[in-house]
Amino acid sequence: MTGITAARGTELRCKGWRQEALLRMLENVLENGENQKELTVYAALAKAARNWGSYHAIVDTLKNLEEEETLVIQSGKPIGIMRTHKYAPIVIMANCNMVGKWATSDQFYKFQEQGLIVWGGLTAAAWQYIGSQGVIQGTYEIFQSIARMHFDGQLAGRFVLTAGLGGMGGAQPLAGTMAGAAILCVEVSEARVDKRIEVGYLQRKTADLDEALSWIEEAVSRKESLSVGLIGNAAEVYPELIRRGVQPDIVTDQTSAHDLLYGYIPAGYTLEQAAEQRLANPARLQQDAGASIAREVEAMLAFQERGAIVFDNGNNIRTQAVQYGVENAFDIVVFTEGFLRPLFARAIGPFRWVALSGNVEDIRRIDEYILEFFRDNEIAVNWIKLANQYVPVEGLPARIGWFGHGDRTKLALAVNEMVARGELSGPVAFSRDHLDAGAMAHPNIMTENMKDGSDAIADWPLLNAMLNCSSMADLVAIHSGGGGYSGYMTSAGVTIVADGTEDAALRLKTTLDNDTGLGVLRYADAGYEESLDEIQQKGIRRIDT
Ligand code: NAD
Repeated sequence: MTGITAARGTELRCKGWRQEALLRMLENVLENGENQKELTVYAALAKAARNWGSYHAIVDTLKNLEEEETLVIQSGKPIGIMRTHKYAPIVIMANCNMVGKWATSDQFYKFQEQGLIVWGGLTAAAWQYIGSQGVIQGTYEIFQSIARMHFDGQLAGRFVLTAGLGGMGGAQPLAGTMAGAAILCVEVSEARVDKRIEVGYLQRKTADLDEALSWIEEAVSRKESLSVGLIGNAAEVYPELIRRGVQPDIVTDQTSAHDLLYGYIPAGYTLEQAAEQRLANPARLQQDAGASIAREVEAMLAFQERGAIVFDNGNNIRTQAVQYGVENAFDIVVFTEGFLRPLFARAIGPFRWVALSGNVEDIRRIDEYILEFFRDNEIAVNWIKLANQYVPVEGLPARIGWFGHGDRTKLALAVNEMVARGELSGPVAFSRDHLDAGAMAHPNIMTENMKDGSDAIADWPLLNAMLNCSSMADLVAIHSGGGGYSGYMTSAGVTIVADGTEDAALRLKTTLDNDTGLGVLRYADAGYEESLDEIQQKGIRRIDT
């Protein structure tokens, strides 16, 4: 079954906008996803629902669900309908949470084969994915931060090397050119390269390394921005660049290195050969993928040794490399600790909103509001201007915007009023990435090297989910890692619908204030100065012990 797109317009198929909104969000993740037939949204295996039977049952249930009812979903499968009340979430879900000692990739694959579990990524099974745009501002802010720290504030004339042009990695070329750099993206699948060109995230493609390098050199010398997709394998291209003495300024990777079976393609394999080996000899495929990752990470370390700024972009590549013999893989810094932590400590993170009517003008109208009423917010104003100019529409029109405590609420309430006044064509759904201040424990990515050593404590995302249910959010999800992320993380997601009603205003204010409030408290608890300052400035109620 293919061809699902999100409904547009203002006609309701459900008994209210809250249910309709969540249904459109579900359809939207599939519309934007990488492989709809498999229900796969991104990151190799992150799915929107357990299987097609579950998908259709979810759709039917949402269509018939009353406002005083809550749909319960377990790993992408609808389990039952509970009588609750109109301030309870419409949907609650727990996806891919395995008990501690069982939380291994082997066990995950077994459960998956038995049809008992599905990995939801962060935003796939929680129906919050908005296409590559979901990570684009994060990637852009990383580049900006590196520019400020190492390159006199600008990346014009700088060469960025990366890999992976999938659902999330596909944001890299556009983030790179928005930051002014010349960016080379190695991607093994030509179809993925073509998709990024088609949606306007990538400019050029070639399968010839010499040609790719000559384009990059020219752009660097002219200080022009450029994005090039090189069809090739990163485990071969990175070491080859080292051999040739080619030296990028910034190096990272966003292949699906977290998953050795379904994600990372080993050197020497075509996509078809990897698919065959997955069935014929999965252990061998994983061994080969691990060995290739080790080669790639060794090259990344060599680039670092030669002076490049090298970072892990959230795909567990260092963890895999250590397991395959690269003992010093953690000499490479992770992007959160290296570049974004001061923002997270103030709960400034990847907030986003989706125009449920499908009208892109709604997003532009909200952009205008931000430019007018958040003039002092440099990050937001700079980003909205750029996004308006460069970020293409994928699926339902949406916008990512890194806002923090208080600002998210201010924006959402203003949008709710615009909906009420009929200034927008329809309601707007607000959500955020799970990779947000109070919502994620991910010791090798989000919470690496926390000041107080609390990296692996998963109480925070669990508290976050409970708090968001208590705060009347419309959808609340608790996720843990699957595939190669099994046992490595727990996170929570939330969605709230601005349908223009007073109830929506209450839900938005309570949920958004508490969601970011907990984020600030989490970092304050770990001893971050920025959080203590935020608490003081914004009157967040912290208990001193
Ligand atoms: P995806 O599965 O959609 O895409 C991965 C891409 O990598 C595919 O196009 C694949 O063909 C390519 N690839 C695999 N092996 C390769 C190799 N050896 N050389 C070159 N290309 C290769 O995944 P995605 O959604 O783009 O996510 C990529 C990774 O980023 C995942 O590990 C994901 O968990 C992680 N991620 C990080 C963040 C973040 O905030 N930094 C956010 C989301 C996802």
